[in-house]
Amino acid sequence: MDSPTRFSVIIVGAGISGITAAKVLAENGVEDVLILEAADRIGGRIRKEQFGGVTVELGAGWIAGVGGKQSNPVWELARQSNLRTCFSDYSNARYNIYDHSGKIFPSGIAAHSYQKAVESAIQKLRNQESSSSMSNPDADAETPSGPKTPIELAIDFILHDFEMAEVEPISTYVDFGDREFLVADERGYEHLLHNMAATFLSTSDTRLKLNKVVGELQHSRNGVSVKTEDGCVYEANYVILSVSIGVLQSHLISFSPPLPRWKTEAISNCDIMVYTKVFLKFPRKFWPCGPGKEFFIYAHERRGYYTFWQHMENAYPGSNILVVTLTNGESKRIEAQSDQETMREAMEVLRNMFGPDIPDATDILVPRWWNNRFQRGSYSNYPIYVNHQLIDDIKAPVGRIFFTGEHTSEKFSGYVHGGYLSGIDTSKALLEEMRADKERKSSENQSFLIEPLLALTGTLPLAQPDTVSNLHKFDIPRRQLFLHTSKLGVPEAIL
Ligand SMILES: Cc1cc2nc3c(=O)[nH]c(=O)nc-3n(C[C@H](O)[C@H](O)[C@H](O)COP(=O)(O)OP(=O)(O)OC[C@H]3O[C@@H](n4cnc5c(N)ncnc54)[C@H](O)[C@@H]3O)c2cc1C
Repeated sequence: MDSPTRFSVIIVGAGISGITAAKVLAENGVEDVLILEAADRIGGRIRKEQFGGVTVELGAGWIAGVGGKQSNPVWELARQSNLRTCFSDYSNARYNIYDHSGKIFPSGIAAHSYQKAVESAIQKLRNQESSSSMSNPDADAETPSGPKTPIELAIDFILHDFEMAEVEPISTYVDFGDREFLVADERGYEHLLHNMAATFLSTSDTRLKLNKVVGELQHSRNGVSVKTEDGCVYEANYVILSVSIGVLQSHLISFSPPLPRWKTEAISNCDIMVYTKVFLKFPRKFWPCGPGKEFFIYAHERRGYYTFWQHMENAYPGSNILVVTLTNGESKRIEAQSDQETMREAMEVLRNMFGPDIPDATDILVPRWWNNRFQRGSYSNYPIYVNHQLIDDIKAPVGRIFFTGEHTSEKFSGYVHGGYLSGIDTSKALLEEMRADKERKSSENQSFLIEPLLALTGTLPLAQPDTVSNLHKFDIPRRQLFLHTSKLGVPEAIL
């Protein structure tokens, strides 16, 4: 068992936000930092695995927001590390929509259904905006008819589940550009994190402890005591908690005293998206390849049932791997069943699209983000018309505990760059707090020295300053009403 030691800062979690926060602290002279990570590796939701002879990304796969005037910081990290990436062109996916008998929908029908889905989604958003602002008495007047046919359901799924349910202007695309690049590097997306960690941690650095599941945080005005499930106790002046919103909701970590109500309410009001990429390996290709064929869609009467497909020939030619994306209820359903059953379902769908003679998959990989107790989901999903106080409250520190992670990024929640930038923001806020604390202590010391003199002269002692100020409270610019259509592109007909 480790003996208790006092650190300046303990960081819980070694995903992109935790590692970035530690790096910024180290760059600012705060070296006595301890990073406690529950898993046996760093990276969190950036995670590679070997499958079918290549490296696949179970978590984050794309660098989203590239090609704009301002550079995405994660794209910069990727360039510095020479990470291999492939441009993803989603614009043709709507011309590759298959029905259950393997026929591709004519482009006119696809465009019409797409237009309908976009209009219905915009109407739904307008209604949501009206009812959230409570300013429009007709808020419920126009209820759009929801998607009904398989093709409408498929497009609705892609607009809301595959893409992020965001409204324009979407900060990621406005700030950094609307292109997306798939990471296709044998070293994995996580190579960026390893490079970053190497700038301040040595290979056998004891300041990073893996397999340390934090179970309890006891906090007071004097510091924080961190207990891990294996019975160790670590003391720190401050904690940066970088675990996901799903973990915060799951009560894996208890707080003593408990978190205030405004905090627990905010945590429970943030939705979590479950997003699952199922990888299937085949002995040979049977799907169309070439320009405009990377992404294809299966239209089924059940929404989100093996809808969105991608072949990996652009990323890894000759790999013979397909990826199908499932989300939320479908993700949870397949997480609960055997991989053989999932393979059977996926094969049935593929045979509907490509005929009975295609070969069986030889291997399958099903990540389980929902059932992973160190994740409990894939990424935060704020309500579209979010009450800005919600993000403020999720992000605000409680005493000496600071919160970071993609879910605390007011502009880029859900993305790797959101996690990265939140790590920088949180550590800067903490550094400011540490400076303020130092100043308070030195003025306390001065008053300690002069108090006896003041007492002699009959002057009252100075009041005690507050221990930790409530940082990070700011407002977020109101978003406008428009549906994000960048990935599939808006059909010319409705432009
Ligand atoms: C399937 C999937 C696809 C995605 N696709 C993309 C994409 O294409 N592009 C993109 O930009 N983003 C994508 N994301 C989102 C992106 O991966 C995340 O936004 C980002 O990696 C989050 O980083 P983080 O540091 O906030 O959290 P995390 O990476 O979750 O780090 C938190 C760390 O805390 C650890 N932890 C949890 N509980 C404890 C505990 N009790 N004690 C100690 N440690 C603990 C966890 O193990 C984890 O390592 C995807 C995510 C998933 C899951």
